[in-house]
Amino acid sequence: MNDLSSNLIAIYIFVLGLCLGSFLNVVILRGLANEEFVRSRSKCPKCNNQLTWYMNIPVLSYIFLKGRCAFCNEHISFQYPLVELVCGFCFLGAFLAFGLTLKTLFICLILSFFILLAGTDFKQMVIIDTHAYILAIIGVLYTVFKLSDITIIESLVGGFLGFIFFEFFARVAQKIIGTRMFGEGDSLIAVALGTIFGYKTLFLVIALSFIIQCFIAIPFIGYTAFKDKKFFLSISYLVVFVCILCVFCVNYFDLFSNEGKYLIFAFCVCVLLFWALKNILKEMSLKKRLIDNNENDDIKKTAFCFMPFGPALIFSSVICLFFLPQIKEILLKFIN
Ligand SMILES: [Zn+2]
Repeated sequence: MNDLSSNLIAIYIFVLGLCLGSFLNVVILRGLANEEFVRSRSKCPKCNNQLTWYMNIPVLSYIFLKGRCAFCNEHISFQYPLVELVCGFCFLGAFLAFGLTLKTLFICLILSFFILLAGTDFKQMVIIDTHAYILAIIGVLYTVFKLSDITIIESLVGGFLGFIFFEFFARVAQKIIGTRMFGEGDSLIAVALGTIFGYKTLFLVIALSFIIQCFIAIPFIGYTAFKDKKFFLSISYLVVFVCILCVFCVNYFDLFSNEGKYLIFAFCVCVLLFWALKNILKEMSLKKRLIDNNENDDIKKTAFCFMPFGPALIFSSVICLFFLPQIKEILLKFIN
């Protein structure tokens, strides 16, 4: 393939991703609203006017309409162009990484379902079960067609262990504190990820997702607490975040002598453990109270346990789909 034609294909695949992203938006919203999405045409959720074709062009319509509905001037959610762009860049990335192959087609399919799962989880902390089941089947087929370097057994065991892992911790927490540590949705996502990655890589994906969750959730919650003038809480999150950063930097960049390294490491781990025990246990009992009484408190905004875990799990999977060898290399550097 010469440069021009491969550039044209790249643009074509990017636009295809934008269009599919547009469709995924509809699947996310109508899936949550439990509507059937095949029959009805796109409408403005506020004024119910049917959208004409030029209001349905991915990203461009949002820019030309300046983010507002052409009929009633209502704000259009930023979710629309965001999902379209994410899907476009995911498809483009798959093509650039794996060329015009069957593997790329599968990666695009997998990424589309990742977007669906993360989208519904972000929006309403809900996973549509069917999305996870279909993704699990795609994961098995991905192995059957020999597109990854795992065996079919590893894929199936991965799905099984993924489910067991999340259900185990969720139920242990249920026994101890009375509420699940992870949602049922996370267990289903783990099944799908297990079939895609196989059981060995699955645990790498899970470990990475915990790290990602900490890096996203902790500063976010600290900032929210600060805005709500809960200064003590925000400082406690800041301390925790600095501790996590220290653990990483000290290990990764090989700062300090061995003795100093272990001292800092031990100190940070103690702070983190203390924080986790105190905060997470407190929050989980709060969560139980909120669920039991059906209250809708603003505690949710400043509680670690109310952050959905699915998006972190999926973000980590996307990284592993593209950069597995590099991730393994970095982890080996940590262990040594
Ligand atoms: Zn409208």
